[in-house]
Amino acid sequence: MSEISNETVASIERTLSDVDHALERLREGAYRSCETCGTEIDAALLTSDPVRTSCAAHPRLNEVEIS
Ligand SMILES: [Zn+2]
Repeated sequence: MSEISNETVASIERTLSDVDHALERLREGAYRSCETCGTEIDAALLTSDPVRTSCAAHPRLNEVEIS
């Protein structure tokens, strides 16, 4: 088995918390609302990124480049 880097583990954990958050928003009926401005998120954006929480004008906070 090849080594799994801490980066990989961190990335999986981030994905898991994103999915958790998206499910929570689904239950609250807020899935399609931008967390920043409340605008409805474009369906195409949600198709390409199902855990997206913001409209095109508001990039996700946790999308800030780490590298
Ligand atoms: Zn917005």
